[in-house]
Amino acid sequence: MVAPLNFPLNLPLAKSGLDRAAHLRVSQDELDSLWAKGKIAHFNGEKFLTDHNGLIFLSPTDVRDGERYFLGFDESGTPYFLLHSETLHGDEESYHLLREANFNALHIGIAVHGQSLALWHKRHPQCSMCGEVTQPSQGGSVRKCTRCETEHYPRTDPAIIVLTRDSNDRILLGRQQVWPEHRFSTFAGFVEPGESFEAAVVREVKEEANVKVHSIEYVGSQPWPFPASLMIAFSAIIENPESAKPDGEEIVEIKWLDRDSIVAELKAETLLLPPPLSVARAMIDAWYLADGVDRPRLDSPESWR
Ligand SMILES: [Zn+2]
Repeated sequence: MVAPLNFPLNLPLAKSGLDRAAHLRVSQDELDSLWAKGKIAHFNGEKFLTDHNGLIFLSPTDVRDGERYFLGFDESGTPYFLLHSETLHGDEESYHLLREANFNALHIGIAVHGQSLALWHKRHPQCSMCGEVTQPSQGGSVRKCTRCETEHYPRTDPAIIVLTRDSNDRILLGRQQVWPEHRFSTFAGFVEPGESFEAAVVREVKEEANVKVHSIEYVGSQPWPFPASLMIAFSAIIENPESAKPDGEEIVEIKWLDRDSIVAELKAETLLLPPPLSVARAMIDAWYLADGVDRPRLDSPESWR
């Protein structure tokens, strides 16, 4: 018997204390007056201006250059923007990657929205219709071509991720060739054009681990702006566990784990789990606790890859 996962999963990057107020993006006058009283997070390269309390906010008078993106309001009605520029505000040591920072829900909402937008803007300087330069528009929620006026919208690339189990509640994890030794995770992959989430789950697991899954259940989702993914998470039951084998290309090793062996392997340092920010880790933690037995949390050294 498999224990049901606690739903919804506690997904760190899905927390957001931000009201996006999308209807305000169309009025430049409105955006200008919000900017004048706004709190401005700064994104430079791939890093945010931070201190030990989280994001550091600039005021409008600090800003000389860069692109401005409207992100939304907090509960008290304070407007937030992202400044995307190459100018440093403070020293380089004050800038940190999203995955290095310790943010509360509001700051996560700001950072995840801001980083997704900034990385998309950076990658779309030209119009895909005519090749001319594009400019940010509508508070940074759109880029508009300066010649043909086509509007281009930010991309989000859906990827499924799936916790696979057999009927004895053992999980099956895989190791990608590019990962460090002992680093294992759940199976995942991008949804292909014209494909449903469920079909992508079946295909990815078959491709990577040579098994067939059924009883596919949605367990949650979170943005993964590295640079533009949305992870849609499922659990599924493996019909033919005896057939499991790695594809030898993307996945070079697989591992079956039950609740005792996962603890033993972590202790023996023959297993390295995905980072705490990831959906994969949240699913593994949720499975580990799903049988209701009181246990200490799984402890694994940090491994970003
Ligand atoms: Zn164009």
